[in-house]
Amino acid sequence: MKPARFAYHRAATVASAVELLEEFGDDAKVIAGGQSLTAMMAFRLARPEHLVDIAHIDGLSEIRRDGDTLHIGALVTHHAVERADLGPDFAVLSRTMRWVGHLPIRTRGTVGGSLAHADATAEWCSLAVLLGADIVVAGPSGRRAVPAADFFLGPYTTVLEPAEMIVEVVFPRPAPHAALTEFAERQGDFAIVSAAVDLDGAPHPTVVLGGVAGTPVSVEIDPGNWDPEAPSRFGDLADWVAAAVDLRDGGDYSAHYRRGLVRTLVQRACEEAAA
Ligand SMILES: Cc1cc2nc3c(=O)[nH]c(=O)nc-3n(C[C@H](O)[C@H](O)[C@H](O)COP(=O)(O)OP(=O)(O)OC[C@H]3O[C@@H](n4cnc5c(N)ncnc54)[C@H](O)[C@@H]3O)c2cc1C
Repeated sequence: MKPARFAYHRAATVASAVELLEEFGDDAKVIAGGQSLTAMMAFRLARPEHLVDIAHIDGLSEIRRDGDTLHIGALVTHHAVERADLGPDFAVLSRTMRWVGHLPIRTRGTVGGSLAHADATAEWCSLAVLLGADIVVAGPSGRRAVPAADFFLGPYTTVLEPAEMIVEVVFPRPAPHAALTEFAERQGDFAIVSAAVDLDGAPHPTVVLGGVAGTPVSVEIDPGNWDPEAPSRFGDLADWVAAAVDLRDGGDYSAHYRRGLVRTLVQRACEEAAA
């Protein structure tokens, strides 16, 4: 199927992209890698009258380390992160990219596009919440940094205003003991459930689940349920998370089935993070 008619605008700078978005308001959409938006347009799930192409804006395709902080530009592709040498501090980001679609999708799809698209099981959304990232957005009144925990409002819904665009995501501190793992029916599909774990979270690990609600879910761990010395600590934590998570029946997979996935995946992510 072909998309409905639209006008195409190629932005040369962030300022000109924001100007175009401001001019056309709700009738405009940013396009970056096009891996999600073009499909939505073909199915008429999105019908923008104006597309603002940001793919040729300089300066948004960089991965930059600044002390403990890692900056990833909005136009950095999943594959660029997969191939980057981020060292042990941020290796979790590169390792996770294998879960994002297939290679052709990873070579075009962008980090900013994934965050803005806000699929409930998108790996970048979970990683950003897990690692306390800030999502930096540019709009008519300048730039603002939004903590990832506040960025996602629901499935495919974020705090982005119509005239705002993501320019970068900032990971504030190294995460040498973090991992994300997931389960999908077929390699390359979006996950049914994903589990991301940061064992360096203090005073207990941080756990973020995808596929259990409309946004990534950060699980509040009761410190009483974490004994770092216990040989069965990862299994115990996984049991506790699986019991605590609020899951409803509905959709293609029962709550019982997804609870089982949560348990298995949390334990697996812990073991990978520790290794
Ligand atoms: C078969 C298939 C399998 C996939 N599997 C996965 C998967 O397992 N995990 C996963 O995470 N993704 C998956 N994807 C989606 C893929 O990762 C996309 O790259 C990603 O969702 C969007 O990135 P994009 O650059 O292509 O964005 P686009 O398609 O260009 O845009 C997507 C949305 O984000 C907005 N947008 C894009 N960039 C910005 C920006 N900088 N600022 C503000 N808004 C912006 C657009 O307006 C649009 O609403 C899959 C896609 C396909 C086709």
